[in-house]
Amino acid sequence: MTAVRRALELCVFCPKMCRFACPVSEATSREAFTPWGKVSLAALSGRSPDPSAALAFGACTGCLRCQTYCAHANDVPALLYAARATAVRAGSAPGEWGEVARKMTAAGHAEQAELVEVYRRIAQEESAAAAARPAATATPTPGPTLDPTAAPTKTASHDAGRPRTSALRAVAGAVTAMLRPAVDAGRGGPTLFAGCDALAAGGSVVRDALAVARAVGAPLALAPEAALCCGLKLVEAGHPEAFAAHAARVRTALLGSSRRPAPVHLILLSPGCARAVRERWPALPDGSRVEHVTTYLSRALAARPDLRDRPPLPESAAYHDPCELARGLSELTAPRALLAASVEEVREPLRCGVDTACCGANGLLPRTLPAVAEAIADDRRRELDACGAHAVTASPACASALGAEDVVSVLARWLGVAVEQAR
Ligand code: SF4
Ligand code: SF4
Repeated sequence: MTAVRRALELCVFCPKMCRFACPVSEATSREAFTPWGKVSLAALSGRSPDPSAALAFGACTGCLRCQTYCAHANDVPALLYAARATAVRAGSAPGEWGEVARKMTAAGHAEQAELVEVYRRIAQEESAAAAARPAATATPTPGPTLDPTAAPTKTASHDAGRPRTSALRAVAGAVTAMLRPAVDAGRGGPTLFAGCDALAAGGSVVRDALAVARAVGAPLALAPEAALCCGLKLVEAGHPEAFAAHAARVRTALLGSSRRPAPVHLILLSPGCARAVRERWPALPDGSRVEHVTTYLSRALAARPDLRDRPPLPESAAYHDPCELARGLSELTAPRALLAASVEEVREPLRCGVDTACCGANGLLPRTLPAVAEAIADDRRRELDACGAHAVTASPACASALGAEDVVSVLARWLGVAVEQAR
């Protein structure tokens, strides 16, 4: 029995232990959209799912919340992505999935926006800034122009006057420094793989990430123009073969054409892309490292004890854990450590950490079932609003869906390096 077959059968005979966990079935109240309903439909429809079954396979954001509550840790999104591929082959898939494949083939990404233009503007700004900088500042040493005790110059006015938590932040920073090794400057060339969601949102978080990394003494190079998108949306659209070809192309763009390429150190803004590159791409050279931007920056910040005395922004933040960061990459500490350093208070919504609630932005749900995706986002926005602080997250897709700020942009404001948009 294959692993997929076994997982299907576990679901079919299960008393639906994860039923309450699914944001799609919660938003729609449809039995067919529970994890059990969707997986059972995949098992029953075999190789010839009809359009309504294909739509049910699309009713999943890939949030992994069902897996948290499953005694067998069944990977429901993986089963449903395989079922979507079956629907594509059977000709019953929603048209939006074919559009993803067409756009990806033509442009190297699946967004409506012209990402290459956004990318080129950022690359030009980086080149101009590098030419204007003294040579010494390009080395990965503590930023010489940053005054650690200076008050942040750009602040939002949320909750001014809250008590200082610098002692707590100092302890958090010290613990993080002990748990995480310092940035490995000797590995050479940490590279920012911005990703399609960040570029489609205009690229401001890309600019902020580059500026913050420089300011904390861990500068990042921008990945080449051919690496706009990791290709995950092809998996979500039921096109695994096209994904494999796309991943191979982008991997070559990053590694070069040498037969024995050097290891790479990739930093991604989207946690879903970081997991896709780690787990779905062809293996990178031994010694390569792939991590989320919060993991990278928290390690860099922990290596800058002088910044612990820098006053936090006079505001509170309600932190939304992205599903792919909290459950997919098990990264709960880094974004909180970064926020603890940069704002006075971090608040947690009702569902947080590994139990975080989905924002509805992923798994192609906004294209397959846009009204459902919006209902899920509304629900999550209400939970965050109840915290009484502005929402902050650590994923460009979640930030767009929730109207939240990315933690990287909060850091940029705290460090006084937020980049004005040059459009
Ligand atoms: S994912 Fe796990 S808990 Fe949910 S229906 Fe399947 S076997 Fe049951
Ligand atoms: S991964 Fe999330 S959206 Fe998909 S079935 Fe599981 S709980 Fe529902």
